[in-house]
Amino acid sequence: MPIRKPIPKLSHTENYPIVRFTIERESNRGPTPEPVICVVSQDGCWEVINRAIAQYNGYIQLVSDGISHKFHKVVYENYHEPLYDNYALHTCDNPICANPSHLFRGTHADNMRDAAEKGRMCRKLTPEEVQDIRKIYANRSITQKELGTIYGVTPTTIGCITRRKTWRWLNEVD
Ligand SMILES: [Zn+2]
Repeated sequence: MPIRKPIPKLSHTENYPIVRFTIERESNRGPTPEPVICVVSQDGCWEVINRAIAQYNGYIQLVSDGISHKFHKVVYENYHEPLYDNYALHTCDNPICANPSHLFRGTHADNMRDAAEKGRMCRKLTPEEVQDIRKIYANRSITQKELGTIYGVTPTTIGCITRRKTWRWLNEVD
């Protein structure tokens, strides 16, 4: 049997638009972990705002007792079932989302297929389109998913643009 990383235990409280996950302390000695704070997006995603995002895969990292976990996996295992060798995939295609109802279980093959399907949707945007996306999204009358469909990119791409994770150098033009 492979040794599994112990999964931190979570509970949460909702006070719209804020969701706060409390992480149970692993032992009496360790410091009490800081809660994970999320903001509920237009799409119903619980977007984590106070934790580091892993540089290459874009997921939220949760460090507990010196072990780094992908936070959405921790959420899945707390609210659904153990994953063992499986993956927690996002129905919303938003890697920083921690809403348990946006997560489903998939195998490695599912994970690859999911990534490939989402990859096919992606295309390069022009600076003008990026400015338009920010302007349109600022009104909040449209979801990231809808914007993604219009521009032929994933909601994640839209989210990165509106949060200025990408195209940061591009100034707003009125
Ligand atoms: Zn979501």
